[in-house]
Amino acid sequence: MIQKVLVANRGEIAIRVMRSCKEMSVSTVAVYSEADRTSRHVFYADEAYCVGPTPSNESYLVIDNIIDAAKKSGADAIHPGYGFLSENAEFVRRCEEEGIIFIGPSADAMIKMGDKISARQTMIEAGVKVVPGVQEDLKSVEQVKQVIEQIGYPVILKASAGGGGKGMRIIREESEVEEAFNLTKSEAKSSFGDETVYIEKYIENPHHIEFQILGDNFGNVIHLCERECSVQRRNQKIVEESPSPIMYPELRDEMGQQAILAAKAVNYSGAGTIEFLVDDDFNYYFLEMNTRLQVEHPITEEVLRVDLVKEQINIANNLPLRLKQSDIEQNGYSIECRICAEDAECNFMPSPGIIKQMTEPLGLGIRVDNYVYEGYEIPMHYDPMIGKLIVWAKTRSFAMKRMRRALYEYKITGVKTNINYLRRILDTSDFVRGKYNTGFIEKNTEFLMQNKYEETKEEVEDIAIIAAYMDYILNLEENVIKTGDNRKISRWREFGKRNAMLRI
Ligand code: ADP
Ligand code: ADP
Ligand code: MG
Repeated sequence: MIQKVLVANRGEIAIRVMRSCKEMSVSTVAVYSEADRTSRHVFYADEAYCVGPTPSNESYLVIDNIIDAAKKSGADAIHPGYGFLSENAEFVRRCEEEGIIFIGPSADAMIKMGDKISARQTMIEAGVKVVPGVQEDLKSVEQVKQVIEQIGYPVILKASAGGGGKGMRIIREESEVEEAFNLTKSEAKSSFGDETVYIEKYIENPHHIEFQILGDNFGNVIHLCERECSVQRRNQKIVEESPSPIMYPELRDEMGQQAILAAKAVNYSGAGTIEFLVDDDFNYYFLEMNTRLQVEHPITEEVLRVDLVKEQINIANNLPLRLKQSDIEQNGYSIECRICAEDAECNFMPSPGIIKQMTEPLGLGIRVDNYVYEGYEIPMHYDPMIGKLIVWAKTRSFAMKRMRRALYEYKITGVKTNINYLRRILDTSDFVRGKYNTGFIEKNTEFLMQNKYEETKEEVEDIAIIAAYMDYILNLEENVIKTGDNRKISRWREFGKRNAMLRI
């Protein structure tokens, strides 16, 4: 059994992982770069090792240094968090060679899913529906044009090794091909060290809906339902919620089964996420698999009351899954907002600096996963995300209300944050009505960029939410009619009535 875990990460995720370890009486080891000496994850752990200078490619990304720290501390397992080495198959192999348990999938599964072209190929062979496109490594402008002739504009040119919303470009007409090709290729090379690019059909304003899965070393795989992640800026998620406002039980079962099929195709073991794009007609397509814990995993934990890190450790201990598919039942709603030290009024430039004062939200249904504290200096060298605010409530309207309350309580001075911007997102009528897709931010830019947040009048808000629910119910009825299942209409009506009553 794992006794001591080294967390090869920093910030909120390092602490989040250590919290579960503590509850399992597993000792924790932190690693840090020189800039992170005073970071809270260093104090939280039972012991901590410096793994190098400030730049991550000289510290957090240096496999030898992380392995050294694991050996010095006597850790028997490494949890990679997300980002950094979490999707690095070479790191997984090194852990194996050194006799250290890697808390995550096999190197083989990671390789098959890590590269977008190879993932698409594997999925097609397994019978999973992928976004239309090609699996070819595109080497010239001419070749790109030929491929577009087959699938038609608009398309999206993507780096096969891409991640974090980087390395992709939409092409709407022939005149854009050359520039897009050159830019994407060079970005792919500089950001991911691999210039392979390929083409997918560009789906206009889809939903990004992803399924959490868990697999063990005995071939068991279950899905843990969906997360709606369509609130994105520059292809990066900002606000996530679960369940998805557009999901209905039959679609959930179907997509969940596809997610299980995808994971089984690579003998997946551990926690992973299958991302899908869903269009207006509820056609869904496999987008990619993330072979790690996702930033937004807490909303699944809140709705299912499952600690995903504990499940990961359980699987890494070579034990069978403790949950069966029939145990998985969603309860209530959860929303997550990513809190970032950035200046929304200045093109979301990172805003590093010293946190002067900070008051965090508390109370029923609130969870804050963060790592900063008053007097802490946020380094400029890493991701500007300083934490995540997660709420849970019985209904979607309550969850929105609770999130508004929590954002109102959240006060940070000394650095700029996106808190007011998040409050605006929560007030946007498309969000309130649950009628949004990945085009949401662009569509609502004007409203979102009004630089001052003004308190909304309670009564106005209440009426808006009841109205939103009525709209929501009608919307669901429409969906039900589309799918031809009448039984659901009455169920949803009942559900809507209950929500409206609770509001009043
Ligand atoms: P996706 O991989 O679908 O974009 P995420 O939003 O979970 O989903 O993560 C985006 C990428 O950026 C991932 O590689 C993730 O590991 C990394 N990432 C996101 N936020 C952070 C963060 N705060 N610190 C480090 N890495 C991050
Ligand atoms: P990353 O690895 O950077 O997370 P993804 O392939 O998961 O990249 O795509 C990130 C986001 O980019 C998606 O959630 C979606 O908003 C947009 N996107 C990617 N591919 C397409 C596509 N074919 N059509 C429309 N939008 C897309
Ligand atoms: Mg993605």
